[in-house]
Amino acid sequence: MLAPPWISVPPPGYGGVEAVVSVLTEALVGRGHHVTLFCAPGSTSAARVTNLLSDTHPDEIERSLFEVDHVARAFAEIDRGEHGAFDVVHDHCGFTGLAMADRLDTPLLHTLHGQFTPGTTAFYARHGHKAALVGISRAQLALAPPSLGPLAAIPNPIHLAAWPLQESKEDYVLWVGRFTAEKGPHRAIAAAHAAGVPLVLAGVVQPGQEAFFAREIAPHVDGQRVRFVGEVTGDVKRSLFAHAKGLLMPIRWNEPFGMVMVEALACGTPVIAFPEGAANEIVTDGTTGFLVDDEAAMAEAILRLGTISPRTCRTWVADNVDVDVVAAAYERSYRAVVRPMGRQPVLSA
Ligand code: UDP
Repeated sequence: MLAPPWISVPPPGYGGVEAVVSVLTEALVGRGHHVTLFCAPGSTSAARVTNLLSDTHPDEIERSLFEVDHVARAFAEIDRGEHGAFDVVHDHCGFTGLAMADRLDTPLLHTLHGQFTPGTTAFYARHGHKAALVGISRAQLALAPPSLGPLAAIPNPIHLAAWPLQESKEDYVLWVGRFTAEKGPHRAIAAAHAAGVPLVLAGVVQPGQEAFFAREIAPHVDGQRVRFVGEVTGDVKRSLFAHAKGLLMPIRWNEPFGMVMVEALACGTPVIAFPEGAANEIVTDGTTGFLVDDEAAMAEAILRLGTISPRTCRTWVADNVDVDVVAAAYERSYRAVVRPMGRQPVLSA
């Protein structure tokens, strides 16, 4: 399992890919696989943990210096057989692993974590044939270059047992994310205000987002109708998701997944989303939340949240994105990668 070099696994706070890697790795170990996790320092796992760089780099994400160093050193250790022979390398690490996958004897499966942009589409058209590719939603794969052929989408996993089901809710709606216009925290404020329901905003103001936050968010934060709680983690985060009447997801971009929607549903908290990207695949309108077109419709849907069954939300997660479902799907993909290389699959079911 080749994690990115930026943040430790599991992530101490914000860290979408690292959370996916952590949950999947623990499940695979639990299912009897021998897993080596190449990752940033400070990581913990039931797998064999191998750190390559001496520091994490949370503020230097996508700096090639660190990504190339991390991947090249992982490939060298894999080639030298330092950890035994691998059946498959599961790569979550930006672009380097895929571009160099044909230099490795071990087959590589690369999870596409990002959205396809003109730049990345050209990159994948050029290098995609070097590895097996797996996407994370149909919405994401709809923009994949046709030369890649049909690709499977395996959703990001959640360890459902770690999230509480909370059926009685408190009087607030929740927004969790990065403070960018595409994620829509300012639209969440408008919708909650129109519905007359308090809003809690949680998340990191990342470098480059300060001006947006100062202009669009800060003037509305009054500690009552709009509360800003900063970055949340652990039990505080789970409790915030669990007690909310609903999660607001007023996104305006082709979001390739949207982990916060799954986390809310796991707790029995319905999601009101704009029908963009993977929101269409994660939210079932009228059953696990509502898909609405704008802030006014979102405000109206907030008032209907009580019609959604928390248990139905959680059941959807159990059936579709719990890590056991996802790990089984990845096992099938690993087998498909291992067999064409003429090696005996040793992954146990
Ligand atoms: N997150 C967190 N603390 C925060 C804000 C976000 O732990 O204060 C987590 C959140 O729970 C989710 C991830 O960061 O697991 C964000 O992933 P998502 O797919 O929703 O968004 P993106 O990857 O686009 O930022």
